[in-house]
Amino acid sequence: MTAMQTAFDIANAVRSGDLSAVEVTQYYLSQIEAREPEIHAFNEVTAQKALDCAAALDQRVQAGESVGALAGVPIAIKDNLCTKGTATTCSSKILEAWIAPYDATVVKRVAEAGAIAIGKTNLDEFAMGSSTENSAFGVTRNPVDTTRVPGGSSGGSAAAVAGGFAPISLGSDTGGSIRQPAAFCGVVGVKPTYGLVSRYGLVAFASSLDQVGPFARTVKDSALLLEVLAGHDPADATSIPQPAPSLVSHLDDGVQGLRVGLVSELMGEGIQPEVAAQVRASAEALAAAGAIVEEVSVPAVTYGLSAYYLIAPAEASSNLARFDGVRYGLRVDAPTTNEMMVATRTAGFGPEVKRRIMLGTYALSAGYYDAYYGRALKVRRLIHDDFARAYQQADVLITPTSPTVAFPFGAKGDNPLAMYLCDLYTIPTNLAGHPGMSVPFGTGADGLPVGVQVLAGTLDEVTMFKVGAALERAATAEAAKGAER
Ligand code: GLN
Repeated sequence: MTAMQTAFDIANAVRSGDLSAVEVTQYYLSQIEAREPEIHAFNEVTAQKALDCAAALDQRVQAGESVGALAGVPIAIKDNLCTKGTATTCSSKILEAWIAPYDATVVKRVAEAGAIAIGKTNLDEFAMGSSTENSAFGVTRNPVDTTRVPGGSSGGSAAAVAGGFAPISLGSDTGGSIRQPAAFCGVVGVKPTYGLVSRYGLVAFASSLDQVGPFARTVKDSALLLEVLAGHDPADATSIPQPAPSLVSHLDDGVQGLRVGLVSELMGEGIQPEVAAQVRASAEALAAAGAIVEEVSVPAVTYGLSAYYLIAPAEASSNLARFDGVRYGLRVDAPTTNEMMVATRTAGFGPEVKRRIMLGTYALSAGYYDAYYGRALKVRRLIHDDFARAYQQADVLITPTSPTVAFPFGAKGDNPLAMYLCDLYTIPTNLAGHPGMSVPFGTGADGLPVGVQVLAGTLDEVTMFKVGAALERAATAEAAKGAER
């Protein structure tokens, strides 16, 4: 058992009886024990539950039962996904120790596929942030360089995979929260098409944007996990009534003749030169593999950030109204009901969550609704239409995932706007509902990982993964050359 083993290989070995799920789980728990005190990827490691679950799986293997695509593969779960019997905190004091009465659909699906839930990962409170510094339970450190943030909001899930604590993990992405931490930690992260993966049991941030997706070390493992996650769920009204796509079988198809668009608006201002250079190199690598690379314009993407910071807080202000001291988690008693609610929410929410609730309430209030929220929805439509035009010209689009590599702790702490700018390149996809993935491609400033973002049209995950796999092959070949030199 080694850290470099993929989920794919582990599941094969467990199914054939070459490895036991208990052995695999023990190995990852020992990795957690060695480095978790330094990294803090988890809010809770569910060691005993994981070992019990692994032992039960081993018995099923011995009994000759069929055990699924993720047999014996440890998986880390973002702590905004409901897990029956284990706390689901959203890294917020308001939900500290709250135990969900049911499993999220994705949690159920990975368990049915034989995966072993190993713990709940840290995040920016209620998934609001880009560095995991907004957690009420302390920061997560980037395993590649512990003086840097892991990105966010799914920083714990990205760090768990990068740190070798689990081969795969689950995150959620509302404006970039899977792709940006994946880029910062040097792993693969995928935001599926809106509606491809069930949101049932994901604690809602901005319901029209939220989507659950995989983290993994390899494109193949992320495809394997997405095949398990995807597919219709009647419990989520926005779930697309369609079976899961077949992705793994297409990864070696190559990119011959595919049209790849480099988004001109997302290669300019604010981007670190090393990041831009890697994205250009990735475009050249795709061209060398037979793709037709062109610059493509998606003019409205430049308004994405402004529209997102009205729409997402507006939805959040409504979604977070349910945390009222009555129905879930924390309650701070006071003489009247209203005072109790104010006291509970004042004590339970952190500063960024309060900022979003205020922004959203303002944008939705009578007299401002048309000027702010209503206009943002119109911009969202423009972005959608501009992408639709771009996808007539190109099969996939590529951009940097983030304008910079992982930054040091505190670098953007007192400036929310600087933090919001981290998501300039990832947000437009959420507004359009399209899929996007981040694939590690070389290094930038200070030798830190760079992620290249691959975007595709609605439900075209297959093409996106073909390109992602080609980028991974090129990056691996380049790294091997570098090692020879
Ligand atoms: N960083 C963005 C925000 O703070 C996106 C977060 C996310 O995707 N959950 O809203």
